[in-house]
Amino acid sequence: MLKIENLQVAYGGIQALRGIDMEVPDGKIVTLIGANGAGKSTTLRTISGLVKAKAGSVTYDGQELLGKPINAVLEAGIAQVPEGRRVFANLTVLENLMAGAYLRKDKEGIQKDIQWVYELFPRLQERSWQLAGTLSGGEQQMLAVGRGLMSRPKVLMMDEPSLGLAPLVVQGIFDIIREINKQGVTILLIEQNANMALKTADLAYVLETGRITMSGTGAELLADETVKEAYLGKKRK
Ligand code: ATP
Repeated sequence: MLKIENLQVAYGGIQALRGIDMEVPDGKIVTLIGANGAGKSTTLRTISGLVKAKAGSVTYDGQELLGKPINAVLEAGIAQVPEGRRVFANLTVLENLMAGAYLRKDKEGIQKDIQWVYELFPRLQERSWQLAGTLSGGEQQMLAVGRGLMSRPKVLMMDEPSLGLAPLVVQGIFDIIREINKQGVTILLIEQNANMALKTADLAYVLETGRITMSGTGAELLADETVKEAYLGKKRK
């Protein structure tokens, strides 16, 4: 289990995370929802080792990850798909996927996982020699997810996979998230698209200006009046 306790992060004098606690049990889809600037990206970036925490702890199966370099977090089995579909524009689809496996030495395993990613995303296979910069937005998001999978993570963290995508493409991305999870990968998903995220998630947390204000199953939060009003654009009855 990935466990976050009393995580505090400050950018200069600005307190971005004010002591958050979260649990991401193995095999589950967990989502963190919240408005712009609530601290969602900061949470993922701190777990990944990209942002330094002021206090707290992040453990995976009891092993402390906070303060460890990014590679150590990746080796522990935690990978992040960055926001904004960041792919290497001047590399091909296949080269991007290979880049996701940069810490691995098991050549056969890598080949197998390329096939795995191609099965999940047949579109990427068709375009394996295409430069990533010329892919459509949805295809770039698929590639970003595929590259994340190439480290064979136990936990895949995703930063707003639905951002800027057409509704039909968003549906496809969420279907894939469920499929990846079914195949044994734990998912930690941050989203502004609270409706889709809560429908997909086993467990959900609400983040407001650096604090967790609510948690429950996805279904519980979907039915909650406060959540409906604040995040699902529905008026209180
Ligand atoms: P969004 O949905 O808009 O991406 P978020 O919930 O992911 O928002 P964060 O990006 O984590 O929010 O930002 C939390 C707060 O920390 C914001 O007030 C933001 O301006 C601030 N912040 C984030 N990164 C930095 C940085 N590198 N330097 C200074 N302040 C930062």
